[in-house]
Amino acid sequence: MRSHLLNDTTAEHYRRSVTEGVERVAAKLATTQRPFTGVTVDALAPVIERIDLDRPLHDTTAALDELEDVYLRDAVYFHHPRYLAHLNCPVVIPAVLGEAVLSAVNSSLDTWDQSAGGTLIERKLIDWTAARIGLGAAADGVFTSGGTQSNLQALLLAREEAKTRDLATLRVLTSEVSHFSVQKSAKLLGLGQDAVVSIPVDHDKRMRTVALARELARCAEDGQIPMAVVATAGSTDFGSIDPLPEIAELCAQYGVWMHVDAAYGCGLLASLKHRDRISGIEHADSVTVDYHKSFFQPVSSSAVLVRDAATLRHATYHAEYLNPRRMVTERIPNQVDKSLQTTRRFDALKLWMTLRVMGADGIGRLFDEVCDLAQDGWRLLTADPRFDVVVEPSLSTLVFRYVPAAVTDPASIDRANLYARKALFASGDAVVAGTKVAGRHYLKFTLLNPETTTADITAVLDLIAGHAEQYLGESLERAS
Ligand SMILES: *Cc1c(COP(=O)(O)O)cnc(C)c1O
Repeated sequence: MRSHLLNDTTAEHYRRSVTEGVERVAAKLATTQRPFTGVTVDALAPVIERIDLDRPLHDTTAALDELEDVYLRDAVYFHHPRYLAHLNCPVVIPAVLGEAVLSAVNSSLDTWDQSAGGTLIERKLIDWTAARIGLGAAADGVFTSGGTQSNLQALLLAREEAKTRDLATLRVLTSEVSHFSVQKSAKLLGLGQDAVVSIPVDHDKRMRTVALARELARCAEDGQIPMAVVATAGSTDFGSIDPLPEIAELCAQYGVWMHVDAAYGCGLLASLKHRDRISGIEHADSVTVDYHKSFFQPVSSSAVLVRDAATLRHATYHAEYLNPRRMVTERIPNQVDKSLQTTRRFDALKLWMTLRVMGADGIGRLFDEVCDLAQDGWRLLTADPRFDVVVEPSLSTLVFRYVPAAVTDPASIDRANLYARKALFASGDAVVAGTKVAGRHYLKFTLLNPETTTADITAVLDLIAGHAEQYLGESLERAS
């Protein structure tokens, strides 16, 4: 059994095992025709159920053969140009290489004595990101597991910086299309049930700053303390970007912490063409970035950045066995002092390898491509009488629905769109997402694959229309 431990005597076994796994995935990439096989839960669950975890195979090849049946064959493949659903990106090879290295070395980024260079690499990437944002010389931050955790940590800091300890009076102001992790964070932070105040959006799904100003004034009158305004730079559904400069002005006027959730829009930080779309982000007190969304990094890769490094002290606790207080004066860099996590992956290495091999411009060009593709898709949709499209994209998302000329009953249109999405998923030909707009069912393309073409978009729209028409035809038959 010792032959399975990765060490000096097993290097050859390691090389062979990992290569075998890489070969399987490479073969998969080469032969995958569709983003999904359409497998159902009922079909797949028994295959996994049958496997007895207490009877190991004792053989890598056999385990990989089995993996083909339980996972690889039916996985949802984000690299396929017709995967158009959620905020998942195809990943860049230098990052995958970084992933292989970081899991083999298995550094843990909580303390210097578990990571050494890893800590310094992470710090340099934090500084790099903060500089791209324009947060200033006192900025800092830390890698996290994802945007959800980044938002939670930012709001923790905001709560601790707030002018009261009375949690019941604290308010978080955020647009009605902001991410649900704002709500979850409020709950975890012990805020009251009404703590999150939803600010309406305009036609383009951007926070109405007039409404924000009104709400800030109302809070002041009612004795409530706004502890943070959470602006969204790239809403999950629409990719809409709140008016950051105006929000920054209001935050400054009222002395409120400004958090920018750029989990999705952070790709613009590397953009060569559209960087201006997030100008104003430099005024933030804290920023969430998800490199695993628009920097083409494997999950997980995310960070929270702050304008004032000192605010991170609210996440600092000392343990004698790990990061005793004296290490601060000894200037030993322990990232755990800034993090909600303790043991923590060296995810930063993936971004490091990406920047060292491709450079930020390489990432920016890929993200620009998908933003431009979304513009083309928007033009296609607006010109197509079969579809109604919600907003012109600011990033790479299109929200639309099939609207048959002959059918006016809104409930039937809803059902036709729901059916089309399900039928498409079951066919595996393409994967699209769905959401609700003003109570009605819509479909969504999140375009993060530069390999997707307008021809793919046209083809998937035809597939959607075909499924919806089939549904409406059949429901007409049923009715007659
Ligand atoms: C995806 C997303 C999040 C959550 O990020 P995870 O990495 O999934 O935890 C937060 N905010 C926005 C706007 C997002 O799109």
